[in-house]
Amino acid sequence: MNYNYIAKLLASWTPESKQHMWQLSGQFEGDIILPPGTRNGIIGWQYHWNNGEIPYVLSSDFTEDEKTFIINTLQTEYARTCIKMRPKQWWELHYVYVTGKDTGCWSSVGKRWGKQELNLQKDGCLWYGTIVHEFLHAAGFFHQQSAPERDDYVTILWQNILPGKESNFNKYSSNVVTSFGKKYDYDSIMHYDKYAFSSNGEPTILPNVSILFFVKVKKQIRKRIETILHLASRSA
Ligand SMILES: [Zn+2]
Repeated sequence: MNYNYIAKLLASWTPESKQHMWQLSGQFEGDIILPPGTRNGIIGWQYHWNNGEIPYVLSSDFTEDEKTFIINTLQTEYARTCIKMRPKQWWELHYVYVTGKDTGCWSSVGKRWGKQELNLQKDGCLWYGTIVHEFLHAAGFFHQQSAPERDDYVTILWQNILPGKESNFNKYSSNVVTSFGKKYDYDSIMHYDKYAFSSNGEPTILPNVSILFFVKVKKQIRKRIETILHLASRSA
């Protein structure tokens, strides 16, 4: 692994860059750490956190300002979910240890028992979406396009993928991952972007239906909500 190269790549990342920075971290599927010999997903009680609570410790790699940003991000994002990210209690044995080394943005998937590392390179990974993304891996989620039903929703353009990087587009069987009955989410923060691991600047992953269709539906839903609110305010 050429960490020096990865560190520089991430440090130069901007929101206008074509790829999510967590795709650039050189790990399995870009940013997933797999313990040797395991390919397991989130099905399996041993990978689940008690009560959906994920205790964490921020290492001294981070400044106070950086720590505040990470804590605020986690609190803001997860306040509206059933997952809770919170500081570790002194007596807890299983927790996420957040480091800021120059090795990219990465995490393992699910609870790995004991102290498990999650890295947010200080210069490159301290973005709201990246922090949320890596902690979702720690909570037990793989990438959206690894879902067993993904071929119904997206097409992988294998001819545009960097040679040797094809395994990043593996999908998992329903014995390994579950979507908890939720529909495939194109907008998921766990979804690759369309140029992920591209060898030639051409898309590697495209939706099977026009995204415009979704924008239209969303607009219609928003309009309907506005109409309902309008009616409600008139009748009040
Ligand atoms: Zn990821």
